[in-house]
Amino acid sequence: MLHKPDLLDHHHSDSSPEQASQTAPDWSVQSQLIHHGMERSGFGETAEALYLTSGYVYTSAEQAEARFKGDDQGYIYSRYGNPTVSLFEHRLAALEGTERCVAVASGMAAMHAALACRLSSGDHIVASKALFGSCLQIITGVLPRYGVSYTLVDGTDLSAWQTAITPRTKVFFCETPANPTLSLVDIQAVAQIARAAQITFVVDNAFASPVVQRAAPLGADVITYSATKHIDGQGRCLGGAVCCSEAFFSEYLQPYVRHTGPSLSPFNAWTLAKALETLDLRVSRMADSALLIAEFLEEHSAVDRVSYPGLPSHPQGEIAKKQMRNGGTLVAFQVQGGKADAFEVLNALRLIKISNNLGDSKSLVTHPATTTHRVLSEEDRWAVGISSSMVRLSVGLEAPQDLITDLDQALSRLG
Ligand SMILES: *Cc1c(COP(=O)(O)O)cnc(C)c1O
Repeated sequence: MLHKPDLLDHHHSDSSPEQASQTAPDWSVQSQLIHHGMERSGFGETAEALYLTSGYVYTSAEQAEARFKGDDQGYIYSRYGNPTVSLFEHRLAALEGTERCVAVASGMAAMHAALACRLSSGDHIVASKALFGSCLQIITGVLPRYGVSYTLVDGTDLSAWQTAITPRTKVFFCETPANPTLSLVDIQAVAQIARAAQITFVVDNAFASPVVQRAAPLGADVITYSATKHIDGQGRCLGGAVCCSEAFFSEYLQPYVRHTGPSLSPFNAWTLAKALETLDLRVSRMADSALLIAEFLEEHSAVDRVSYPGLPSHPQGEIAKKQMRNGGTLVAFQVQGGKADAFEVLNALRLIKISNNLGDSKSLVTHPATTTHRVLSEEDRWAVGISSSMVRLSVGLEAPQDLITDLDQALSRLG
């Protein structure tokens, strides 16, 4: 006879902070990433179970009534909550150091939910202008249709954030390091400005990953992720997450996501939760390799300029030291010449693949001016520092010497 899994008895209709606190608080983050959020069923499985279910059954009509009233703890419907999605949420919240995490279907769903749940018609948002293309579209295209105005600022200029505040400013938004220039925003300093004006500070932390940069202890109120990037890190599935306080969750985020339904599939949640077990290892190794590659590129005669937050030459090296554990996994560089020369290098690479994704175990290279940042005008591209000779490299898990060999043979074709 099979044992009946008894874990539903422990669950709330949404992921609960009670469950999140079950792991002893003195385990280091590395250990929590292996075990946190685990609730074994009666089968005693070693690995996390996958609950691929959209709904839940009740033992009686009375139990269903009690659960809807909130008197009985348990799941109701997977748009509201699912045990496998909760597992991923608890594990990421433990890593991020926030009370809550809500997992959604993509990074853009996370970013949109974080902003849309907080803003109403007439409100104003201030955002750093160096942004991921779709984030820029939400702020300058989607939200204005609902009466939300915006000001874009140079995120590195602290006085610009201060000056842009209006009486209706509700949100500050930035991405740091920024895509693809790898310029940095001083999270702690901007958080101070936001706090003084009672503004919610939302940070898109996809580029750094929670291993390299933890924005909550620096004062960010809400941290959004594309889990598609480093968290999955193996090119398998889309996912996103919003990390926040209990107060932001209950007042803004929970009612919004419950009814708009950007829900993450349990299958993707399972993939992402398992990927968190190796996140620290993967990202640390990728960042070590990225530093070696950035140093190699800086010395190369066919390369004009390298932007890597872990290099002393980075214009905001002091901020990098203050808020990042290392320089991260991305390197941007300009080859000598223009678009044709950048293309020649991309086309000559053998081990490194051409793709606009990032944070993957496979090293990926892209030409931002003609792909991810194609919709910007030439002038806007120049304003944030994206030239036609710029190449963005996401450093993967291959042997660093092989990556350097590949880059060297490709760059040697230029003059
Ligand atoms: C990829 C990315 C997103 C969007 O994430 P998706 O999972 O593709 O929806 C948002 N912000 C940044 C910084 C990204 O790199």
